[in-house]
Amino acid sequence: MYDVHEIDPAGIVKDDKAVQSFCQRTGATIKILLAFGNTAQQLGVSRDVTEKTNILYGNYYVQLLRSVKKDWNKIDGTVPQDQEDNLRRYTTFLKWKNNSCAEDVAIFVSLMLDAGRVQIDQLSATEVSNIKPLALLMRHIVALPWGLIGQESQEKSRHIFVELLQAEVPNCKAGAYKCILSVLEECLMGLPQLSFTTIHGSKCCDNQYMIKEGMRSVRHTTLNPSLENSRESVQQMLNHIFNAKDLPTTTTDYKCSRGHKCTKAATKMTLVVDRMPPVMAVLFGTDIKRKEGRFRKVFEEMEIQHDTTKGIRTVRYKPIGCVFYISKFHYTARWVGRGLNEGKIVHYDDMAGGNVVCYKTNDWWENIKATQGVVAVFYEQIMS
Ligand SMILES: [Zn+2]
Repeated sequence: MYDVHEIDPAGIVKDDKAVQSFCQRTGATIKILLAFGNTAQQLGVSRDVTEKTNILYGNYYVQLLRSVKKDWNKIDGTVPQDQEDNLRRYTTFLKWKNNSCAEDVAIFVSLMLDAGRVQIDQLSATEVSNIKPLALLMRHIVALPWGLIGQESQEKSRHIFVELLQAEVPNCKAGAYKCILSVLEECLMGLPQLSFTTIHGSKCCDNQYMIKEGMRSVRHTTLNPSLENSRESVQQMLNHIFNAKDLPTTTTDYKCSRGHKCTKAATKMTLVVDRMPPVMAVLFGTDIKRKEGRFRKVFEEMEIQHDTTKGIRTVRYKPIGCVFYISKFHYTARWVGRGLNEGKIVHYDDMAGGNVVCYKTNDWWENIKATQGVVAVFYEQIMS
């Protein structure tokens, strides 16, 4: 037996009933709370500066997020997620019903990406107030010990989500067809571990980055590459987004420091002003069909080379999951093994039947014998 007052030296918990009700609702036991408390106490609180302000020019500035560190996926960088909860998050999933696949995909993907659970402490009060209700609700759902709360509580959360979706997004009637990509975008919008900030700039022969006065920065949550160039891999499509160096610019846009010695070899570029996000959601407007999958190389590691205010940086990403369809049904898949090549196990969740299907081969995508397409792929940054 544990005495709750022993784990609460600050005297916050005075109400045994409240503690019991908390444990009942969350599925956590006092033993778990005690273990968490002890771990947190040992690790201490991360008090480094979590938010910086970068002055671009004059009194125009951009608020920046802390660069991605090894332990980004621990709550506030110190507390690990409960292992039991983690194991059960993807095996006790809700059953598909009443055209709910867009909702279920959004919940599954948010859980997989830890959407909103971490790095929220890096946002300023203004940024937090800019997060829309659906993304805030997702953050709340992801923060629940989803694997431990039981089906009834999961159903309740989904019900609240469906109601809010109808209220917030036009044409999102219950039981009707919904665009999975728009629902996903709404639910992930502005959440810090997915978002990053860019601004258009240019560089001349003097190697100095220049940003035109009045140019606004853009915060991105998802990447939406175009599939129009039919023979391009996802890597090549991402290169287009980050390396627009082939675009010429007029030197009259700004003043080169080399004055009359200027070669007028100016190039436009997309400057990442904060950092590339820990997880990256790539949504395709057109589905990538099975036969295209081979040359698109959607499930391979991606490398993103981008300009920053400190020069060129490279970050690498590995795929961790995707949304796809077989015939008319949508599914979510996740890579259970760490990294694509080490003991790769893919399992996907059949939302129509609630089954979990496991594939231990590298050719799982090729082996599905039906009409199929990839709708979105999610990648996690590889920490070196
Ligand atoms: Zn120049």
